[in-house]
Amino acid sequence: MHSIRFRLALWFVLILGVVVTAFSGFIYIRQVRDLRATAIARLELKARRLGGFLRFANREYFQQTPLLLPNDPSSGISILQEGDILAYIDPDGQVIKNWGPVDASNVHQLAGVLLKDEDASNPSPVMDYARPSVDDSRTQYVVLLAPIFINDTQVGFFVMGNPVDPGNQLPRLLISLILGVFLTMGVALFGGVWLADRAMRPVKTITHAAQTIGETDLSMRLNLDRKDELGELAYTFDAMIARLEVAFERQRQFTADASHELRTPLTIIDLETSRALASHRNQGEYERVLKVIQSENQFMIQMVTNLLTLARMDAGQVVLQKQEVDLSDVTLEVVERLAPLAVNEHVRLSVGDLPELPIQGDRQYLAQMLSNLVENAIKYSKGEAARVQVEAGSRETGKGGQAWVRVVDNGPGIPVEDLPHLFDRFFQVDKTRTRNHGDEAGSLTGVGLGLSIAQWIAQAHGGEINVQSEPGKGSTFEVNLPLAASSSTSSQVT
Ligand code: ADP
Repeated sequence: MHSIRFRLALWFVLILGVVVTAFSGFIYIRQVRDLRATAIARLELKARRLGGFLRFANREYFQQTPLLLPNDPSSGISILQEGDILAYIDPDGQVIKNWGPVDASNVHQLAGVLLKDEDASNPSPVMDYARPSVDDSRTQYVVLLAPIFINDTQVGFFVMGNPVDPGNQLPRLLISLILGVFLTMGVALFGGVWLADRAMRPVKTITHAAQTIGETDLSMRLNLDRKDELGELAYTFDAMIARLEVAFERQRQFTADASHELRTPLTIIDLETSRALASHRNQGEYERVLKVIQSENQFMIQMVTNLLTLARMDAGQVVLQKQEVDLSDVTLEVVERLAPLAVNEHVRLSVGDLPELPIQGDRQYLAQMLSNLVENAIKYSKGEAARVQVEAGSRETGKGGQAWVRVVDNGPGIPVEDLPHLFDRFFQVDKTRTRNHGDEAGSLTGVGLGLSIAQWIAQAHGGEINVQSEPGKGSTFEVNLPLAASSSTSSQVT
C-alpha cells in the first residue's frame, strides 16, 4: 500500500479511468444526438408524405371506419414503418383511429405532452420527445402533432411518432462502452504495475548498493551508468560517499596522528621514571628526570590545547568577537611578546613598516595566528645569522582594500613538494627539525598543528595565508585580510 510502485500504478489506472470514461461518455452522447437527428429527419419526411396523402383525402375519409393505413400516393408504399405511431384525433380530442404499438390512452398521453404549451384552438405543428408506455418498454419516441385541414377547415389532428433508436443500438453501445472502460482499467492496472516495477528497479539497485556500502566499506561506488534522473541521483550519492570517505579518512588519520604524537612523550616519561626508580640516584639525576617529565608534559599540554582549539573550530563553537582593530598594533604586540624568545634562540627579530591597518577582527585570535607564524620563523631559522623580519602594509584589490602582514626569515626554507601540504594537520617537513625529545623544559616544540590553526583563523576573517619559500634561503609567510568597512560585530564561525 505504501510502496511508490503501487501508488504509481493506482494513479495511472485512475487517470486512465477518468480519460476513458470521459471519452466513452462523449461517444455515447454523440450517438444519442445522431440518432435523434436521424429520427427527426425520418419523422419529418413521413409527415410530409402523410401531408401529401391527406391532400387527396376528404371529410368522409375520417368518418369511414375502419380507416385505412395511409399509403404514400406518389410511391404507393406504406408511410409507416415497424414500430411507428400514427393516430387521427377529431377536433373534440376523440381518437378516431390509431396505428402502431399504442392504444387510445397512449395517444391521449402523447397529445397531452405535445399540447402542454400550445393553444389548443389554433395549434401549429409541434414536435417533442416522449416515452409512451408501449409494451412496458422505455423506448423513446420523437412525436409530432399537426392539425389536419381540409378545404381550410380543421378536421382534426394527427399524432405521428417514430422511435429514436429503432435498431436498439444505444443499450448495446452502453454495455460495450462500460465493458471497454473496465477492460482498459484492468489492463492498465497490470501495465501500470509492470511499468512502475520497471521504473523503480534502479531505485532498488541503489538501495541495495547503499546497504552494502553501509555494511562493508566506503570505497564502493554505485557507478550507475545512466543519463536520466536516477543516474543523476546515483552520481550525487557516489559524490556524497566520496566526500564521506575523505572525511572518515581524515578523521582516522587525525586520530592516528594524535595518538602517535602522544605516545612518544608518554613513553619517554615512562622510561625516565622507570629508570630513576630502578636504583638509587643522586639529586642531579632526579632533577634531570623531572625536567624531562616537565618538558614532555608541556609538549602534551600544548598539543592537547591545539587539538581542542581545532575540535572547537570544526564544531563551529568558536565565536569570534569581531571589532575594529589595528592589525599593525596586534603585530607589534606579538613581536614584542616573542622578542625574548628570539634572543634566546639567537635570532635577530626586527620590524619593518607598520602603518595603521584597521580591520574587523578578533584581537585574541589574530594574535594567536601571528604568534604561530613568528614563532615558526624563529624556531626553524634559529642560529647565529638567523634573521626574522616582520612588516605590514595594504593594497587595493578588485574586492576592496586588503591588509597584509609578512613574516620573512632566512631559515632552511621548505621544499616545493611540501608546500601544498604545509597547512594540513600534523604535517611537518622534517620531524627532527622541530624538537628533540628530552630537551630542556620550555624549548620550542611542535606537532604540525600551528599552521592549520593559523590558516583557519585567517579564513574565518575572510582572508588567507600564502607562503613562498626557497630551500636554503628562507621562507615568507604572508597574511592577507580585508580592510575594515564597518564597525563592531560578533559572529559565529562554522
Ligand atoms: P609545528 O608545530 O610543527 O611548527 P606548523 O603547522 O606550525 O607545525 O608547521 C608545519 C611545518 O611547516 C613545520 O613542521 C615545519 O616543518 C614547516 N614550517 C613552518 N614554518 C616554517 C618556516 N618559517 N621555515 C621553515 N619551515 C617551516
